[in-house]
Amino acid sequence: MKALAINNLCKTYKNGVVALKGVNLEVEQGDFFGLIGANGAGKTTIIGIITDLVRKNMGEVLVFGKSIDKEFSRIKNSIGIVPQEFNFGVFEKVRDILINQAGYYGIPRRKAEAASDKYLKSLNLWEKRDMQARTLSGGMKRRLMIARSLVHDPQLLILDEPTAGVDVELRRGMWDFLLKLNQEGRTIILTTHYLEEAEYLCNNIGIINKGTIIENTSKKELVNQLDSQKYIFDLLRPIDSIPESTFKINKIDETSIEVEVSKRDTINDIFAYFNKNTIEIKSMKNKTNRLEETFLSLIEKDN
Ligand code: ATP
Repeated sequence: MKALAINNLCKTYKNGVVALKGVNLEVEQGDFFGLIGANGAGKTTIIGIITDLVRKNMGEVLVFGKSIDKEFSRIKNSIGIVPQEFNFGVFEKVRDILINQAGYYGIPRRKAEAASDKYLKSLNLWEKRDMQARTLSGGMKRRLMIARSLVHDPQLLILDEPTAGVDVELRRGMWDFLLKLNQEGRTIILTTHYLEEAEYLCNNIGIINKGTIIENTSKKELVNQLDSQKYIFDLLRPIDSIPESTFKINKIDETSIEVEVSKRDTINDIFAYFNKNTIEIKSMKNKTNRLEETFLSLIEKDN
């Protein structure tokens, strides 16, 4: 049984916008799945349908084998959702937000308090527990949303751009927290714009473009599709012109060049070229992360 199985999902909004054009998607239990796509690709619409906030026009959605049409009230308890926008009462106190949420799921008060305190501590919000939510920083509000999604102990966690607007250091902390939740056995589905985030966290990735899934495979497979990689080399001494080469080389400025390396070449081949032409290298780095390159090339092909 899959954690999520979506079959031919279609959605046209009342204003005529066709958001989903027959989406098919499967997520295994225990997976860390990334749904990536440009703005407006349809990610939030899919999440809205799974969580019964948006009404679909056609298609089937099964969560742990149960249809959202027939058994949503039973499915509800197994899903935790972290929407893109903050939607808690800003005048409510942090701990009360969590306890009340657990209450909606019918969790008895003592258990609700214990679960709330557990997640307040693990998400570093314990000190803020008696503060009104409006006094939290953006990163804390984001963590509060995550804590709130977990108080009823859902087996499937869906996060819509969970680290938007979160600074780099905090983001790392959140990533590690999410990885831990996944290692404990929870299935996690996340949408993100940060491809570095998907690369760090996800085992499998679906790419959605204009309402259709154009790729759904393992992260490894995806990055292996790349025919070439680009590297930036910083040079020890400036060069006037680029010596003739079989590689595609662009001069960025006097002391840095970009080299495109195809699959059949090795880094050794580039260094042999540098040695032959007495170009000395100070440092090198990948131009972009590999997932980002793959994503862009797939979207380009599809457009
Ligand atoms: P983003 O990354 O910007 O959040 P997304 O992939 O989540 O984008 P959706 O929010 O699902 O994309 O939007 C898909 C399309 O549906 C867009 O063209 C959007 O403008 C449109 N849309 C979304 N919600 C509504 C709505 N309530 N009414 C009308 N159109 C909508």
